[in-house]
Amino acid sequence: MQTSFTLAQLADPDVAESEKILRACVHCGFCTATCPTYVLDGNELDSPRGRIYLIKDMLENERPATAEVVLHVDRCLSCLACMTTCPSGVHYMHLVDHARAHIERTYRRPLTERILRGALAKLLPYPQRFRLALDAARLGKPFAPLAQAIGFKRLAAMLRLSPWSGLHRPLAPQIFKAARPRRKGRVALLAGCVNDVLAPQINAAAIRALTRLGIEVVLAEGAGCCGSLVHHMGREHEALAQARANIDAWSALEGLDAIVITSSGCGTTVKDYGFMLRTDSAYADRARKVASLARDITEYLLAMPIEADQNADGLVVAYHAACSLQHGQRITRQPKELLLKLGFTVRDVPDGHLCCGSAGTYNIMQPDIARRLRERKVGTIERLRPDVIAAGNIGCMTQIAAGTRLPVVHTVELIDWATGGLCPPALREYRPHSAMRPSVTAG
Ligand code: SF4
Ligand code: SF4
Repeated sequence: MQTSFTLAQLADPDVAESEKILRACVHCGFCTATCPTYVLDGNELDSPRGRIYLIKDMLENERPATAEVVLHVDRCLSCLACMTTCPSGVHYMHLVDHARAHIERTYRRPLTERILRGALAKLLPYPQRFRLALDAARLGKPFAPLAQAIGFKRLAAMLRLSPWSGLHRPLAPQIFKAARPRRKGRVALLAGCVNDVLAPQINAAAIRALTRLGIEVVLAEGAGCCGSLVHHMGREHEALAQARANIDAWSALEGLDAIVITSSGCGTTVKDYGFMLRTDSAYADRARKVASLARDITEYLLAMPIEADQNADGLVVAYHAACSLQHGQRITRQPKELLLKLGFTVRDVPDGHLCCGSAGTYNIMQPDIARRLRERKVGTIERLRPDVIAAGNIGCMTQIAAGTRLPVVHTVELIDWATGGLCPPALREYRPHSAMRPSVTAG
């Protein structure tokens, strides 16, 4: 694609990077076929190519974002299916991140939206505050249908997604010793923010699986949210501050083999720290080092001598590939290989490249599109008639669980259970086949 940025514009490293990305696009439109928003509505402006044109026009002309640009960029899920499809290697993720930061700087959103976005940015990344907010949301949960009926769709979406059950206290910084006499490795675990509050069983399963294999697990003092929640809102400053805090925390640890992450949305962001902080001379080197150590839990476990301890034969798992895992990190085979190795029957979800509609805070900010994507996803999964749905990202788990009665678990919960750990709580509570599959309720 031809561009016409001036030399003065190109002196800005973000503009220079975006120009490189724009030039790589040859307008072929292959990406439109796999873009969830285009698949739903067929509107070119809600396709990757359409958004690329809008962003190019905005950046090249140094225009403040218009309502039209904001509408179509906001509808983008950042699922990155377009990057997997693109034959020209267009790095859409960095382009849309730049566009979002530009929108945040130049566009004044309506008051209610500013309040909602501000509240999400100040609550979600901080586990203690998030926990209190969810306690309050639980009281309002029965009123979700009323909120929907009177047009408060975002409030209704938030209430629907909040859990009924009591919430966990976030894990404190600490060290989990390797269970074997000889330590075989040492990793830092990103406890995460939403992950740790909504589904503590995920990190618990990861810690059990890792320590059982002889790996020491460290939850570093000072590590917190990866920054992705605010990054996707264009709040660059806050995202970089959160990234720097994590880099400081992990750089202070010695002898790390990896930084293990159980939420693939966070993993995609941590792996991008090197790029995000490339112009910060105080952090660039350490950011690159941290990014190079980041591993999804399944990526890390597949390299370990992992063996089944319990018989999982016959348990049919519908594996939902989170976008951030399959498109963001290009991790597609590792989770399925682990599950197969441990005796599960794994079924791929048709149209698995399409997002479930979760996408960070997307299911709150764009509840209609998110609901349509969830219905589509749940329909394809349920037709597989699985016993359980597994995914590698808390966002997808929450989104899918809100639309189905099937148990939804994190892949590492199944791995932990099959290698001698506990049965995932969602499976314990759900036993339609328990007479046929006694092992499901064991442990
Ligand atoms: S597939 Fe790639 S090159 Fe083709 S229009 Fe989409 S982004 Fe551009
Ligand atoms: S990131 Fe996803 S929603 Fe956004 S343009 Fe690409 S394919 Fe479409």
